[in-house]
Amino acid sequence: MEVRNRLGELRDLFPSRRLVVVSNRLPYNPHRTPEGVRYVKGSGGLVTALDPILQLSNGLWIGWDGGTGTPMKGRRITVSEVDGEGSYQLRFVDLTEKEVSHYYYSFSNRTLWPLFHNFIGMSRFNTAHWKTFFKTNAYFAGTILEETNPSDVIWVQDYHLSLVPNFIRYQNPDLKPYFFLHTPFPPYDTFRLLPWCKPVLEGFLGSEKIGFHLKGYADNFLDCVEKISNLHVNREWGLIELTGRQVKVGVHPISIDYDTFHDIALTKRVVKRAQKHRGRIGDRIVILGVDRLDYTKGIKERLLAVERFLERHSKYRNRILFIQVAVPSRTRVDEYRAMKKEVDETIGRINGRFTGEGWAPIQYIYRSLSREELVSYYRLADIALITPGRDGMNLIAKEYVASQVDQNGVLILSEFAGAAEELTDALLVNPYDIETVSDIIYKAIRMPLEEKRARMESMQALVKERDIYYWVRNFFEEIS
Ligand code: ADP
Repeated sequence: MEVRNRLGELRDLFPSRRLVVVSNRLPYNPHRTPEGVRYVKGSGGLVTALDPILQLSNGLWIGWDGGTGTPMKGRRITVSEVDGEGSYQLRFVDLTEKEVSHYYYSFSNRTLWPLFHNFIGMSRFNTAHWKTFFKTNAYFAGTILEETNPSDVIWVQDYHLSLVPNFIRYQNPDLKPYFFLHTPFPPYDTFRLLPWCKPVLEGFLGSEKIGFHLKGYADNFLDCVEKISNLHVNREWGLIELTGRQVKVGVHPISIDYDTFHDIALTKRVVKRAQKHRGRIGDRIVILGVDRLDYTKGIKERLLAVERFLERHSKYRNRILFIQVAVPSRTRVDEYRAMKKEVDETIGRINGRFTGEGWAPIQYIYRSLSREELVSYYRLADIALITPGRDGMNLIAKEYVASQVDQNGVLILSEFAGAAEELTDALLVNPYDIETVSDIIYKAIRMPLEEKRARMESMQALVKERDIYYWVRNFFEEIS
């Protein structure tokens, strides 16, 4: 019921305009079946929030299908799922093997991703990759120009498509793209290391409005605009002055579909799953980490903190279970393969060291989980240990909060996750301070139930109010 009300509010967001979303990946993933390729909706927050709005506005989503092996060039398919309320179209952008390699795996994921997360030493600068990134962004823009008209609301997503807004604006000044960056934006001294920092910045500036999760990211961006592009910035109003127009910069922390997570956590199936795990674990304290397997997520340091905790508190050696769930990610990239090896070895070493009486302190799950499985782990966990070295937002933290229906869990959260600015009732830690993280695990274990409840209740109220639907409404406030 709650969700339907939220949809009702979104219906009025653009009464007579079509929403066109553009992202690197389409929201539906190809699955091969004996009858051919079938498209299955992804479960990310962005898809959850935008799918119904696109259906209500007969919208369009433009993106790459992740490589099905089936040529989809120029193809469109129609999706309609929300109780026949409407439908929208997917427009496929076909990428060649070279584009996938240079634009996606290399420039997007080995140059911009580490740079934007301030992992400067990991960032690779390669002119051939830049050139393909440039051309592929132009190709995305060309598809947008073919498909849209000035009455559409065009919303470009994320760093892969940084250059797209400017390409669109340059070729048709009547199109006014909006942009959202889902990663952090780094400080000037980091960003300026990028040999192509100026064209990337100018790519963003083709937008009508640019959204960031945090004020700090927006401030970094404005610093770069002033120092690299020599443009005038009105900080009070969040406006960048260009010749003949302005670009708005807004702060909009992304969120989750709180009610859906909360409701799933209350279902019998989730309760049963959690009970089944409990049967195996007994009354041991469950500590949970969930991440895409990415070097920004601080998994290695987290394991070292768990190891330090076990060293210092021998009486807990048989009393805790740390479950680390990791989704395979970017497995074609060397840094990710190296990291996987390191995580595997570290877990093996710690388990080898502390396994006793038939009990291993760490359980490692290396695969993608269904929403229901994931929520049953969130419900089960006495402590969520979410300690990225740097994270634009971190939705896992918000999902854990929404799924804690008994309000007896404790969230330990990195102060370098965007979510830390809102979830101030979490136990905030510096993930690189192994000693202190191990102290905080002890503090979480010892925390009185009343304190756990009070902290969880206040975080739940916040995430419920500022959910993913709030995020979309708020981003488009000025134009509705
Ligand atoms: P990022 O966008 O960097 O991956 P976030 O924390 O913002 O990090 O989002 C991660 C998303 O991936 C969450 O919505 C979460 O539910 C999902 N996810 C993470 N781990 C798993 C898993 N093992 N199985 C399924 N989904 C997962």
